[in-house]
Amino acid sequence: MRTHAVVQSIIYDDQKKKASGVRVIDALTKQVTDYFAPVIFVNAGAINTNSILLNSVSGRFPNGLGNDNGLLGKYFAFHNYRGRASAQCHSFQDTDVIGRSPTSAYIPRFKNVFDQNSNFLRGYAMAFSARRSLNINTGGFGKQLKDQLASDKLGSWNVGAQFMGETIPKETNYIALDRNAMDEWAMPSVKLNVSYDDNDEKMIQDYWEQFTEMFTKAGFTNIESQAKNIPLLTKLHREVGFSGIVPASLVSAGATEI
Ligand SMILES: Cc1cc2nc3c(=O)[nH]c(=O)nc-3n(C[C@H](O)[C@H](O)[C@H](O)COP(=O)(O)OP(=O)(O)OC[C@H]3O[C@@H](n4cnc5c(N)ncnc54)[C@H](O)[C@@H]3O)c2cc1C
Repeated sequence: MRTHAVVQSIIYDDQKKKASGVRVIDALTKQVTDYFAPVIFVNAGAINTNSILLNSVSGRFPNGLGNDNGLLGKYFAFHNYRGRASAQCHSFQDTDVIGRSPTSAYIPRFKNVFDQNSNFLRGYAMAFSARRSLNINTGGFGKQLKDQLASDKLGSWNVGAQFMGETIPKETNYIALDRNAMDEWAMPSVKLNVSYDDNDEKMIQDYWEQFTEMFTKAGFTNIESQAKNIPLLTKLHREVGFSGIVPASLVSAGATEI
C-alpha cells in the first residue's frame, strides 16, 4: 500500500505486448516512480479509470490503452435524481414510531420491465419515506425555551418520494482529456460532455403522473412535485459505479492509494 500516490498512466510493454506497470506521481514531492507487476488492476472509479486509460498512450495505443475502437470514455451513463415529490398524510394521527421516521420503502422499476410499454426507454425506481413532524416552539429563552423543547407536540405525517431514473448510455455523453489544462501533477483535466435528453424528460413526466396517482389513492393531500435542478456531477454515483466523481486532476494528497 502506498499513499499520496497519483496514478498517471499504465505502462505498456511493446515487446511483451501487454501492460507491464503503473506510473505514479507522488502527490507531495511530485516524484515519478514506475512500478511493475504481472497483473494490474485499475479500480479508480468509472471516470478516473477512463481518464487513466486515456492518459496511457504508447506507440501501440496512441489514443489510450485498449482504445482501438475509440469508445473509451464514451456511453457514459448515470442516474437522474431530479424528481422529488412530497405530500401530507392525515391518517395515523394517534401513532408514532421511535425517531418519528418509519422504515423507508423502495419501489423497484415497474415500467418497461417485460415489454416496452411507455414512450420512453428503460425506467426508474422510487424511494419513499414518511416522517412525523414536530411542532416545537423554538422561540424564547431559559426555562420557557427548555420546557417548550421538552414537550413533544406531534405534527402531521410528511411523505416524500425520490425519483431515480436510468439514463441511456449514448456516444454523445462522454468524458475526454483536456491536455491544454494540466494539473499540478502534470495530469490532464477531465472534460465531461454529459447532459440529459428527451428520454429523461419523458421518464420524469411519467414519474410525476405515477406518484400523483399513488399519493391521491393513498389519501394524501398537498401533493407537490419538485423538479430539482441538480447539477449533473453531484449525482453521478451509485449502481453504475460512479462514486469516483473526483477528476484525476483533483485527487488530493492523502486521498489516493494504489
Ligand atoms: C454519496 C454517495 C452515496 C452512495 N450510496 C450508495 C448506496 O447507498 N448503495 C450503493 O450500492 N452504492 C452507493 N454509492 C456508490 C458506491 O459508493 C460506488 O459505486 C462504489 O464506491 C464504487 O467503488 P469503486 O471501487 O469502483 O470506486 P471508488 O470507491 O470511487 O474508489 C476509487 C478510488 O480510486 C482512487 N483514485 C482515483 N483516481 C486515482 C488516481 N489517478 N491515482 C490514484 N488513485 C486514484 C480514488 O481516490 C478512490 O479511492 C454511493 C456513492 C456516493 C458518492
